[in-house]
Amino acid sequence: MTSKMVFWVLTLFPGMLECLRYSVVGRAWQSGLIDIRTIDYREFAADKHLCVDDSPYGGGGGMVLKVDPIVRALRSLPTGTGRRVVLLSPQGKIFRQEDGRRLAAYDEVVFVCGRYEGFDERVRAYVDEEISLGDYVLSGGELGAAVLIDAVARHIDGVLGNSGSVLTESHGEGCLEYPQFTRPEVYEGVAVPKVLMSGHHAEIERWRRKEALRRTFLRRPDLFEELTFGTGDYALLEELVAEYPELAGLREGWQHLRHQAKRVRFTR
Ligand code: SAM
Repeated sequence: MTSKMVFWVLTLFPGMLECLRYSVVGRAWQSGLIDIRTIDYREFAADKHLCVDDSPYGGGGGMVLKVDPIVRALRSLPTGTGRRVVLLSPQGKIFRQEDGRRLAAYDEVVFVCGRYEGFDERVRAYVDEEISLGDYVLSGGELGAAVLIDAVARHIDGVLGNSGSVLTESHGEGCLEYPQFTRPEVYEGVAVPKVLMSGHHAEIERWRRKEALRRTFLRRPDLFEELTFGTGDYALLEELVAEYPELAGLREGWQHLRHQAKRVRFTR
């Protein structure tokens, strides 16, 4: 029996997490595989005006979330083990698929959302890690928390109908996913590759793996260089070299590694 994973979101705008009531995550939430609980900082404001922000020391525009309502909100959580507290911040480590896998191993993940000009620096002492969605600035952490909950939940057993897809999907094993097609067979003159309709499973797998490697090389050379190749990949890589001569420069590493039976990490 899988135990329920709990996501806490500490925020000024709990309603923004309602977007998670749809589709895959919504079903997981409804079926009890996960729970998403919000806590409003205002419940922890110290004054009758429910003020949770203030102007920054040293001047400058905008408002900053105060440290005490945030810490009080964190301390209001029921005591529990297996909990990870994550601060949403454009100054954090950029989130990747492996972070989704890693966070899914906790019983509870708490997302602390900033707003306005951010939060009092002293909040940082109360969190375990700081995550950024990317090198751009959002107006608040809520949409980021929703993205992270979605990305983490996909790694929880039972959340995806097809549990294999988290591996074959883009970033599952370092590669981008192969191209996908559905009906019609021909659309405005563009036909579905014949192999996909052949019913020959081994050929289909081979085609998919080669296209995944091709895509990753063309679109994300940074990921391609980090790939772990299986022994079955070398013939595909040679075929790709014939198409993209610039790949030949990387071939020396493959030649060296191809005799090893186990999966190996490619290095230039
Ligand atoms: N003044 C802050 C700075 O320059 O680092 C940015 C504050 S931002 C307008 C308000 C809040 O949105 C942040 O405290 C954070 O919680 C969230 N946020 C903004 N961009 C983000 C990003 N790229 N990743 C994660 N959270 C982000």
